[in-house]
Amino acid sequence: MGSTYRSVGACSCRSHLSRSAPPARLLRKHQSIAFGLQGLPRRTCGQGRCGKAGRHLRFKIQAVAAVREAVGRHAPTDVEYDAVIIGCGMGGLTTATQLAAEGAKVVVLEKYIIPGGSAGHFKRDGYTFDVGSSMMFGFGKEGTTNLITRALANVGKALTTVPDPCQIQYHLPKSSEHPDGLDIKVWRRYEDFVEELSRAFPHERAGIKKLYDECWAVFNALNSLQLKSLEEPRYLLGEFFKHPLACLTLVKYMTGNTGDYARKYIRDPVLLRFIDIECYCWSTVPADFTPMINAGMVFCDRHYGGINYPVGGVGRIAESLEEGLQERGGFVEYKANVREIVMEPATGSSPSRAVGVRLNDGRVYRGKTIVSNATRWDTFGKLVPDEQLPESEAKFRGRYTKAPSFLTFHLGVKADVLPEGCHCHHIIVEDWNKMEDPRGTLFVSIPTLLDPSLSPPGTHIFHAFTPEWVDDWKGLDSKEYERRKVQVTDDIIKRLEAYFPGLGAATVFREVGTPRTHRRFLNRMDGSYGPIPSRRPLGMLSMPFNRTSIPGLYCVGDSTFPGQGVNAVVFSAFGCAHRILVDLGMQPKLPVIDEGYNALLGAVRDRA
Ligand SMILES: Cc1cc2nc3c(=O)[nH]c(=O)nc-3n(C[C@H](O)[C@H](O)[C@H](O)COP(=O)(O)OP(=O)(O)OC[C@H]3O[C@@H](n4cnc5c(N)ncnc54)[C@H](O)[C@@H]3O)c2cc1C
Repeated sequence: MGSTYRSVGACSCRSHLSRSAPPARLLRKHQSIAFGLQGLPRRTCGQGRCGKAGRHLRFKIQAVAAVREAVGRHAPTDVEYDAVIIGCGMGGLTTATQLAAEGAKVVVLEKYIIPGGSAGHFKRDGYTFDVGSSMMFGFGKEGTTNLITRALANVGKALTTVPDPCQIQYHLPKSSEHPDGLDIKVWRRYEDFVEELSRAFPHERAGIKKLYDECWAVFNALNSLQLKSLEEPRYLLGEFFKHPLACLTLVKYMTGNTGDYARKYIRDPVLLRFIDIECYCWSTVPADFTPMINAGMVFCDRHYGGINYPVGGVGRIAESLEEGLQERGGFVEYKANVREIVMEPATGSSPSRAVGVRLNDGRVYRGKTIVSNATRWDTFGKLVPDEQLPESEAKFRGRYTKAPSFLTFHLGVKADVLPEGCHCHHIIVEDWNKMEDPRGTLFVSIPTLLDPSLSPPGTHIFHAFTPEWVDDWKGLDSKEYERRKVQVTDDIIKRLEAYFPGLGAATVFREVGTPRTHRRFLNRMDGSYGPIPSRRPLGMLSMPFNRTSIPGLYCVGDSTFPGQGVNAVVFSAFGCAHRILVDLGMQPKLPVIDEGYNALLGAVRDRA
């Protein structure tokens, strides 16, 4: 390890997700309290090596609490909320804002100290690092699939974004046809991308066009509908009468997977592997396990609305939503660790119902509805004890399994290490047979190519990550844990140097997260990225929507349809908020049909 590193994340009591600053809005409003905080990491424990990091972290948390107290926004416990929401990730927060925008009284309870979960950001030594996501869909200006733009607008917010000319540069394995490896760029302009791919596979030109055009059929249908709850038949019927062709198109694709369509048009085995990585890079499963509806959305929105990066970092989305929520009377309560979902006992023919939540510190929040933004495994098994596990959840565990977590490398690098014309997002596969293995695929994001304000002058943020199971990191003492982190970082940097020569020597800052970090700071079981099908799914019908079989309890986020990714999670939140508004009687429904339709939906899913 070079002596140039200013931080190696070597302080065992603190890792990269123990973010150093409270939300920007609070800092702006309360500079007098917060100014000390902003300087704190660098002057005291910013190097993570002084041995006092635990004390400093505690101090930072206390200071954040002091800022919040000064704002005087603690959520009261002596009222019944329309919705009590567990978790301030993009799923929980977006649900809250869309409910508050319709006049509902909501509180969001977050275990950590800032909003956004996997889509938050943290500051270190002049760098603003995105926790996870940097490739943002859903920021388009037109159509209906621009869900992030719409979620913000519904609470009076908008963010300035920078258009990304290239969604991903793929660096793929060598083959007889591509002896130097396959280099494909997904350009913002659809025609440019199809041309680039067709040049690499000239014999498949027609098939490539047919496959991606079929994705456009799905996308155009989705993009003409208002995207709300697919569990609400009144809305579905309304959309059907307004856009019958679009609805019938979606019905056609509802049960299909992308691999089936790919093989319909394409024969070349390497090109089929390319379609696999196109799916894997966001769904973490190959094309055969990725619903066609999801692929249609992702493969086309990147050209239609484009990939756009929010100025100030991805965490600005959650911070802006939080502001919008509070302006509408909603509450976000931090350091609120929900221990259990409180159930009203069953009486006569009425089943047991979720009526509140209890925090670790004993506080109880009561709600007409309870929404969990935690993963399925944290919700059922921890917040709802295993002995109360509904049958449908047991079936879910048969259909889906946990995706691995990630190793994440948040690096600050000297600017001149990046090659001329470097793009923001890179995906590297060295061996197709290892694509799905732990550490098999390397992901890189360099968001400072789009927003240079996120790092000190003359540097870039270089965020690399790769899938990893938590099991390999269990039971290590802190010395061994740190040793493994250093070793794995050096290994990964060495692999990256084949594409970014000189990366190791150019690294001036680094902080490393493991699956344990994700588990601890994102509060996700095993640090998992989310659910992945354990067998071929029935297209989109296998994934649960927002209602659960416990009355009053809803789920939102990447454990619900349509799955992982920020725009997908926001879609799930639009559905969740809509369904809750209908169930609360704040929006109309079709009483008899509603229950019958949902029973049918549940039955299909349980058999999928
Ligand atoms: C490394 C990485 C890279 C990624 N890259 C991209 C990308 O480029 N583009 C993209 O679109 N997506 C990307 N994603 C995926 C995307 O970030 C996630 O799918 C999405 O942010 C998940 O949102 P969520 O609301 O479902 O869950 P989370 O973000 O996990 O939020 C859940 C929240 O609930 C809180 N919580 C949990 N349990 C409790 C409890 N008991 N009490 C109180 N609070 C609790 C957690 O602290 C957390 O804040 C990436 C993810 C990772 C990890």
